[in-house]
Amino acid sequence: MSLTLADARIVTPEGVHDGWLTIEDGRITHVGHGAAPRAGHSLGGRHVVPGFVDLHNHGGAGGSFPTGEQDRAREAVALHERHGTTTMVASLVTGALDDLARATSSLAELCDDGLLAGIHFEGPYISRARCGAHNPGLLREPSPREFGELLKAGRGHVRMLTIAPELPGALETIRMAAAEGVLAALGHSDATYEQTLAGIEAGATVATHLYNALPPLGHRAPGPIAALLEDERVTIELINDGVHVHPAMLRLAYEVAGPARTALITDAMAAAGMGDGTYVLGSMDVIVTDGVARLAEGDSIAGSTLTMDVAFRRAVQEVGLTLSEAVQLTSLTPARVLGVADRAGSIAVGKAADLVVLSDELEVAGVMKRGAWVVEP
Ligand SMILES: [Zn+2]
Repeated sequence: MSLTLADARIVTPEGVHDGWLTIEDGRITHVGHGAAPRAGHSLGGRHVVPGFVDLHNHGGAGGSFPTGEQDRAREAVALHERHGTTTMVASLVTGALDDLARATSSLAELCDDGLLAGIHFEGPYISRARCGAHNPGLLREPSPREFGELLKAGRGHVRMLTIAPELPGALETIRMAAAEGVLAALGHSDATYEQTLAGIEAGATVATHLYNALPPLGHRAPGPIAALLEDERVTIELINDGVHVHPAMLRLAYEVAGPARTALITDAMAAAGMGDGTYVLGSMDVIVTDGVARLAEGDSIAGSTLTMDVAFRRAVQEVGLTLSEAVQLTSLTPARVLGVADRAGSIAVGKAADLVVLSDELEVAGVMKRGAWVVEP
């Protein structure tokens, strides 16, 4: 079955052009300029961007990936799909090893089904001093042997491990993760500049939500932020919700790292797509007020209620990026990090037909995943 989408303003990393595209069996088979050679579904001159790729997401629509409940996870995935995310990683938080293994083997089945693109362990190998919304009582010293057990539960679907490089056993665990094809991400860390460099040398390639849960930049003690920003091997995650990171600091990071090393993430939790109220994140109670999630005890920010369409829109309207720059941060760069850029991350022949149609105000007007409309424009 073939479908032509005509009268589109197609956004690629190289630029924006008026054109059309053809989709067959869930894949993009032609991308053309100007008028379509045959009648198609007109998009009325609206922008089309590649489906968003979210590397760091704890849930939505009331569902929380750390519980491992498949029905609730499906609802969370569906919520984020309606907001344009067509590839997403499910992030777990610090928990007891048994609970982590159980949630992992449950979510691995959703990875088998293609609903999730992988599983991310944000903890338990993180710093007590920078644990944010993670349960400090369940933090552990990194251990390659123990992490190997969690990898087994994931049956090849564990894609990322957030780890604090200064902890005993961290460098061995980073080396082991990298050797197993798991992205080692440095974050929730109190490391010095030098300890961070050691983590990168050991094989870490991602910075978990840069700025958040890290010591601030200091001119005599640059700390992990400077090390992660300046190293060409590292891709930085940023939560672009206007709460976690000030737009000026987001621009600063982007100026240093550039579009090929910057990935916008949601870090969304169960309240995404829901109203204010009381939720849980792992074993911690969270209260959401005016869309901002904070621990019920203390005032740590506890994930976000962000969706990728809002992250994209803010990148253009609040941060000042062009559409072509923004699609790199929300699709292509995270797809490359995940190792799925051969099939996702941009509008190109041969890739999956994962598309988002946007209104002039950059609101979602349509979403297609693998050639099927999730939201029909
Ligand atoms: Zn998170």
